[in-house]
Amino acid sequence: MSVEYEAVIGLEVHAEMQTDSKMFCSCRVLDNTEAQPNSAVCPVCAGMPGVLPVINQKAIEYALKVALALHCQVNRTSIFARKNYFYPDLPKGYQISQYEEPLAENGHLVIHTSLGERRIRIRRAHMEEDTGKLTHTTRDEVSYSLVNLNRAGVALLEVVSEPDMSSSEEARAYAASLRAVLRCLGVNSGDMEKGVIRFEANVSIRPQGSDELNTRVEIKNLNSFRALERSIDYEIKRQTQVVENGGKIIQETLGWDENRNVTYSQRSKEHAHDYRYFPEPDLPPLIVENEWVERLRASMPELPDARARRFQSQYGLSPYDADVLITEQAVADYYEAVIASAPKASPKTIANWITGELFALMNRSGTNPDEMQSSAFNVPPQALAGLINLLTENEINQNTAKTVLTEMFESGKTPGDIVIQRGLRQISDSDLIASLVKQVLDENAVPVQDYLNGKDTLLNWLFGQIMRAAKGKANPQILRAELDQQIDL
Ligand code: ADP
Ligand code: MG
Ligand code: ZN
Repeated sequence: MSVEYEAVIGLEVHAEMQTDSKMFCSCRVLDNTEAQPNSAVCPVCAGMPGVLPVINQKAIEYALKVALALHCQVNRTSIFARKNYFYPDLPKGYQISQYEEPLAENGHLVIHTSLGERRIRIRRAHMEEDTGKLTHTTRDEVSYSLVNLNRAGVALLEVVSEPDMSSSEEARAYAASLRAVLRCLGVNSGDMEKGVIRFEANVSIRPQGSDELNTRVEIKNLNSFRALERSIDYEIKRQTQVVENGGKIIQETLGWDENRNVTYSQRSKEHAHDYRYFPEPDLPPLIVENEWVERLRASMPELPDARARRFQSQYGLSPYDADVLITEQAVADYYEAVIASAPKASPKTIANWITGELFALMNRSGTNPDEMQSSAFNVPPQALAGLINLLTENEINQNTAKTVLTEMFESGKTPGDIVIQRGLRQISDSDLIASLVKQVLDENAVPVQDYLNGKDTLLNWLFGQIMRAAKGKANPQILRAELDQQIDL
């Protein structure tokens, strides 16, 4: 009998705390993709001898907010430590991090997948500082590595999960939920292309149903949800094959090759770093008074998960629809703005228009959810509300509404103007519809006879012919009623 394997996955997520200044000095935190290299560097973050770090209170405040959002227990005393290693992007020769006593521990994050809701335990959340960035180039056939220290010393929060996930879908949902929390709290832009959030995936496999933790690999520096998912899937397959062929998984650190879609070994356990951690002598223990934590707790905004629950109870949405809407705050805000402008429409209908037609148009044109809040977005909430109002008031039918939305999205015109200019108003005049029904039935004597002889599907075909005669504008309920009545005569 062959053994089925299941994956065991734990994630480490690094998120920059987007404070004005760095973690231990007053250098500005700049957009790494735009700023002049090395334009925000001082003796502290450049690792000059004799300088003293000073803790950025705002960074701790941000980290505490994340810890509270993740239901962690906050440690009153936490310790900064030196993690020693040499690399050209680390001018001090060590990174200040938290090791034995982190800022917060033992929390959880609720995720939603196709299998339903799950709670993923958080092991710890601790503060550290980011490194600089290296760029490798070649000029006149000579290779250079350029060092940019703008990022060196930027506050980083590392959130470590328990190995509670078992598929790439869960890992992605966890990463997306965590990102939504960070964005909601305003501590991180979530802009993964700029590297402000980075993932590391720990992956092992075990026989299905067992609870052992086997040897794992760690995939470093994953910068997108896609890379996260694909690298995990690749590893699960690779490890399963190794084990099925009688081999052994070796503990190692892997990289992900985006172009070839494979993981590759960076270093094995024998070459693992010994970081020689010791308490940072230049910083006192960090004491977080309970009163501060309680003040922050009281100031917390409505978090994505709470908002999803409210969308379910207040608007009658399914857990799935609620989750689709809250994953991006811009979408959730947009949704509630449409509801406010279309109080008579059903919130479920509004959700369908956004996640169906509007998302399809946005996908096709490569429009980002964040752009929904911009004045350049052609379908502001009031405009979508206007369209849905025309629909609920029977001024236009469902298919016409889709056509109108496409034109709104492209031109920015109001739905009212489009309906008037293109003569799209729904025909609800029952005399007119009755005469169209009669005309089409007269012209299609054979199909009508076939229908009456029992070929039921022809009724829908006839319905379509009449709708076509009405140029798609007939009120479908009236049309249906007229058709039923006339064909049975
Ligand atoms: P380290 O500190 O060496 O990185 P940890 O034990 O703290 O190791 O774990 C780091 C991450 O690896 C955590 O997210 C944890 O959930 C995950 N992890 C630990 N054991 C396993 C395992 N057997 N399979 C998959 N992930 C694991
Ligand atoms: Mg690790
Ligand atoms: Zn500095």
